Amino acid sequence: MSKSFKLLSVLMIAALFVLAGCGNNNNAANGNTPAAEGGSDAIAKIKERGKLLVGVKFDTKLFGLKDPASGEVQGFDIDMSKAIAKHILGDENAIELKEVTSKTRIPMLNNGEIDMVVATMTITEERKKEVDFSDVYFQAGQSLLVKKGSPITGIDDVTKDTKILGSKGATSIKNIKEKVPGVTVLEFDNYQDAFSALKAGQGEALTTDDAILYGMASQDPGYEVVGEPFTDEPYGIAIQKGNSDVVKAVNDTLAELKSSGDYDTLYTKWIGKAPAK
Ligand code: GLU
Repeated sequence: MSKSFKLLSVLMIAALFVLAGCGNNNNAANGNTPAAEGGSDAIAKIKERGKLLVGVKFDTKLFGLKDPASGEVQGFDIDMSKAIAKHILGDENAIELKEVTSKTRIPMLNNGEIDMVVATMTITEERKKEVDFSDVYFQAGQSLLVKKGSPITGIDDVTKDTKILGSKGATSIKNIKEKVPGVTVLEFDNYQDAFSALKAGQGEALTTDDAILYGMASQDPGYEVVGEPFTDEPYGIAIQKGNSDVVKAVNDTLAELKSSGDYDTLYTKWIGKAPAK
């Protein structure tokens, strides 16, 4: 092989590499959106709309509670949602909060009414079959709320003859039935109805996450949270399956909140002392 032919071959191969490289990486130039390559363009749709649609609780003090007088919804989950709106759209007020309950949140997410669920939602293997989750943003555990002076002082005092109150669609219902086989659980549409039922004497204890129960106890000094938490409830933000760009945006927001110290500020504002690292 002549020297000049060898040189020409090397140059041609180099040129092919350059061309191949351009084709792969230059989506903007060739008009390919990430979705066309099998990714997700959910963020592009949110940006086009100019507003983030978030499913939150309206009846859960500390996480998402609507003030009937002002109409404002406030809580830890609301502040998380605002931070995500700021990250995606540059404006924490570019947001519409829609009420979900434990039972309605997955259907509302999967029929496209909301972009994400930020609503005291535990990450579970079962739920992962229906939705994708962000990283954990809050660690709760299931506990019991009783009338002060109740003979129930913890999960060990719950027997199959105890009447327990809970919310439809919550992990708490399944968990307590596993802990105390045969126990009677009355299920309500939301936590305010369950709390009203406890006050009306329809059951002896209300069960859900400790953080939610502390919010209820702060609404009525006649009630208290008893015993140690008996499950792990790591909260995640739920996103429609396949919307990997939204999952990434949410996880990036959570990482920013943690590294800036804003996460601890929000935790202290709503929950109390910031968690140990
Ligand atoms: N974290 C539990 C759950 O996701 C209980 C709280 C709730 O019902 O939202 O089911």
